Parts: sequence; C-alpha cells; structure tokens
Amino acid sequence: DHVLIGNKVSEGHVNFTIAYNMLTGIRVAVSRCSGIMKPLTTRDFKFTKKLAFDFNGNELTPSSQYAFKFKDYCPEVFRELRALFGLDPADYLMSLTSKYILSELNSPGKSGSFFYFSRDYKYIIKTIHHAEHRHLRRILKEYYEHVRENRDTLISQFYGLHRVKMPYSFKHKIKHRKIYFLVMNNLFPPHLEIHTTFDLKGSTWGRYTNVRSDSKDAANHRPVLKDLNWLEEQRSLQLGPLKKKKFLTQMKKDVDLLARLNIMDYSLLLGIHDVDQGNNLLDDRNKLAMFSPNSSSLKEVKRNSVAQQHRQQSTSAVSHFFQQDEGGLRASDALNNNLDRIYYVGIIDCLTNYSMVKKLETFWRGLNHDLKVVSAIPPRDYADRFYEFIEESVNRVPAPQYKDDEKRVA
Ligand code: ATP
Ligand code: CA
Ligand code: CA
Repeated sequence: DHVLIGNKVSEGHVNFTIAYNMLTGIRVAVSRCSGIMKPLTTRDFKFTKKLAFDFNGNELTPSSQYAFKFKDYCPEVFRELRALFGLDPADYLMSLTSKYILSELNSPGKSGSFFYFSRDYKYIIKTIHHAEHRHLRRILKEYYEHVRENRDTLISQFYGLHRVKMPYSFKHKIKHRKIYFLVMNNLFPPHLEIHTTFDLKGSTWGRYTNVRSDSKDAANHRPVLKDLNWLEEQRSLQLGPLKKKKFLTQMKKDVDLLARLNIMDYSLLLGIHDVDQGNNLLDDRNKLAMFSPNSSSLKEVKRNSVAQQHRQQSTSAVSHFFQQDEGGLRASDALNNNLDRIYYVGIIDCLTNYSMVKKLETFWRGLNHDLKVVSAIPPRDYADRFYEFIEESVNRVPAPQYKDDEKRVA
C-alpha cells in the first residue's frame, strides 16, 4: 500500500479509452444539467439518464472518438450536492474535462478499484463495484439529508455517480463491460506535500505496514501507515479545545449515520503536512499533474503556479471547518497555539455494505480471534470501535517528538 503515485493516462495508455469515455460522458451529462435548480423530489433520487456516443454524433450527443454508452445517476441530486459542497459548476467541468488527462493510481487498495485524479488534483474518480454503486443509490437520500444538515461532514464528498458501457474484446466473448465510477473530493491538497499518511480503521487485525526507511526512494514511495503503526509510534491528533470538540462531534454524527446505513470497513484517512519540512521534494501528485512519471529533472517547475491557482480558488469556495487552513486543519495545542503540522482528514471508502460476505468473514475469524480486533464486525460495533480509536487518539497526550539528532544524543 503506497501513497498516491501513478501513471499519467494520456493517449496511448491502455486505459486511455476508458478515461476518455468517462470524461466525455461527464462533460456532456453535467453541462446538460444546468437549468434552474428546483427543490428535489422523490423522483430525482431514482432518475437516471442514458446517453449513447458514437463517431458520428447526433442531435443529443456530440461526436466521440469511441462508441460507448454513458449512464448518469440522479444528476439533479449530485448537482445539488456539488452546490452544497461549494463547487462552482464551471470550475468542476474545467477541472475534469478541460484536457483529457488523468493520473492513474497503481491499485492502491485490495478491492480492485482504479483511482484517477483530475489534472489539477482536486478530484478523484474511483471505479466501484456494482454492489457499492447499488448501495450508494439506496442510501443517497439519507446521505443528501446528512450533507444538508452537516456541511462540515468528514464523510467523502460525492459529486457524481456514473457508468460507462463499452464494447469488449470479442476474444473474451463478452459483449460489453460496465464500469461504475464516482467522482469525489481529493482530501489532499494539490500544493502541499504530505509527509505522512495514515489509513485508520480502529482495528488491529493485519493493520501494520512495514516501513523500509532504508529504501532509496523512500520519499517517492511513502507508505500508507495503519493502526498498528499509529499505536507503535504513539501518535496523536493534536487539536486545541474548539477544533477537538468540532472534530469529535462531527465524527460521532458521521459514524452514527454510517452505522444506520449498514456501512462498515471505512477508514479515517489522515495526511500530515509538516510545515518545517515544507515542500522540498516536489510532491509526486504534483509531478504527475504536469509531467509523465519519473521526470524528476523537472522538479521545481510550475509548483508555484499550482499554489497560486489553489489560493485564488480557495477564496471563492464555501469554507469548510476542516479545510480552513490551506485546505486542511492546522494542529494546535491546548492553548490554541498553532503547531507546525496541517492535517488533511476525512472518512473514506464508505460504501461497503455489511453484506453476506462480511458476515461470513466475521464467522470464520470469530472462531479463532477476538472480535475486537477483526475487521468485519457489524456496522454499529464497527462505528463504536472506530470512534473510540479516534477519540483516544485526539485525547492522548502526545509523545515527545525528538528530532533525529536529538534521539542519537539521548
Ligand atoms: P480496500 O477496499 O482494499 O480498502 P479500495 O480500493 O476501496 O481499497 P480505498 O480504501 O477507498 O480503496 O482507498 C485506498 C487508498 O487511496 C487510501 O488509503 C488513500 O491512500 C487513497 N484515497 C482514497 N480516497 C481518497 C481521497 N478521497 N483523497 C485522497 N486519497 C484517497
Ligand atoms: Ca479501504
Ligand atoms: Ca473498499
């Protein structure tokens, strides 16, 4: 498991056709959805729209390089969600479709999902399993209500749910393949380097990442650390009283919703920017935004312009409590003095329904292991364990942080 490092998907890449079709579909579907916003009705939560693309084009769809079908789910609901999250419709389209280039992640999870970043790193496209897509549609109403009442929710911000259906290779005797995907927020900033990343679930079963600090390109392949690393390093989230209260209150509301929706297996994704370390190494995610992989000679270039763009955009956006400092949350001590870290934090991967598969896993693991440590436990228990883990992390008195040379002296 590694941080978001990937390959630029441009013409010639094996997945270029898929990326092209996704973006073409989004461009046409989203720009079509631009009339006056009316209050949502029950129908909007069921509505789907199909578009067929081909080389010739027709009165409904412009010509496309490849033939494929596109399905847009509940466009009015997602349009409303984008507005609630403070996105500007024109910016959204520009970010995703001004150039047909995305960066693809090398399979970051075990699920088989693919991740793509928009060129400016503001958005992530994640391909999802059919069951996750079905679950999102089922819970969309409640998710929407929750967002309306909790603008500062820590749960992933969903901006669109779509499907592309493309002709498949005849060799495999499969006529079509359907790819479900969603567009969501990238929790991490385009302009600052993330020095440490944690993916926390509150469980300890298998939740350890072996860190090879001797690895030559450690900086380019920073691993995503997990619960056991977090505990081993005696880490804590350092937030002053107000931030702490806001954070835990929101977290509680969010996990209560997820428990009610029968969801589990989500994580708290935490990226830490160390202000003292700064941006000495050009962040891989930035590098990828502009160059093909491994073009390290072009390191310093253009980072400033990205930072500038980001600043301009962030002034116009609706302020989100947990994004108030450079798009994240500045660490602070008990007296509210700023500390030299910025946290980027949110709850991700929250579409796993506590399905039959998971029930089986509970059964098998429950036979041999303490239920407290296994991953697949019922949603209410999962939520409680998750919340407690985070709460303890926020309240823990921080371990003294030594600089490397101080450690050696001691
Ligand atoms: P699995 O089900 O095996 O856990 P998955 O394919 O469902 O994996 P996720 O857990 O959603 O994948 O994400 C995997 C990794 O991708 C995360 O640990 C994180 O590093 C990165 N990631 C996912 N979502 C985001 C996001 N919204 N912003 C930034 N990074 C993200
Ligand atoms: Ca996950
Ligand atoms: Ca998953």
